[in-house]
Amino acid sequence: MTVISANKRKTLGVFGGTFDPIHRAHLQMARELQQRLQLDEMRLMPCHIPPHRQAPGVSSERRAQMVALAIEEDNSKSRDVKALQVDTRELNRDRLSFTIDTLKGLRDELGQSQSICLCMGMDSLASLDKWHCWQELLEYSHIGVAARPGYEIPEVGGLANWIKENRASPEQVHRSSRGALVIEQCSLLAISATEIRIRIQEGKDLSHLLPESVERFIKLEGLYKE
Ligand code: ATP
Repeated sequence: MTVISANKRKTLGVFGGTFDPIHRAHLQMARELQQRLQLDEMRLMPCHIPPHRQAPGVSSERRAQMVALAIEEDNSKSRDVKALQVDTRELNRDRLSFTIDTLKGLRDELGQSQSICLCMGMDSLASLDKWHCWQELLEYSHIGVAARPGYEIPEVGGLANWIKENRASPEQVHRSSRGALVIEQCSLLAISATEIRIRIQEGKDLSHLLPESVERFIKLEGLYKE
């Protein structure tokens, strides 16, 4: 366990995703990164997908509703730790959400001294060089990465060099407001939203993959059947 000194600055974790649907690995990863990096606040932020990219029947609003349900359930079971929160700012846009724009917006809102840590899984890090203005992300926040079953840290190419140049220890998230890339070996849960959508179409059991409230919501609304 990392020990971080008492004189730490306020830190915000922002964990973005499609959450289509949110599942137990998302919650576990959010909790573990929050704990390992000692983040004061952790927000789950569903991204907006324009209608032509949307899976049938599952609107951004419903994905956000499922995130809110999952968080409510998880917070009620983890009373002794800080509550997770949902941030729906990306849903108010009518175009694809670019993370760089979200980080700029957060900076304008929170000021320059607060530490912001953009959280993601290893598969997202492995394709980071496809993101809009990816090399500028660290100008606005830190990046906290959780290992994910089946994905390794890229070892060759431009992205691999960028990772080596910027990789830092978890303490750096408290020493500065942005600029560090921290990779943490969290407990691994081999769950993906893709697998869940397929299991629903095939009528298979979803136990232990989803928070109960999300499973009930999906059944009630008849989501992911086609
Ligand atoms: P899909 O299967 O549709 O691609 P997903 O399960 O990867 O979905 P996303 O909403 O795309 O879910 O993921 C949001 C973030 O959560 C990403 O940064 C992703 O790397 C991370 N993540 C998702 N599942 C896991 C997992 N099992 N372990 C670690 N990280 C995960």
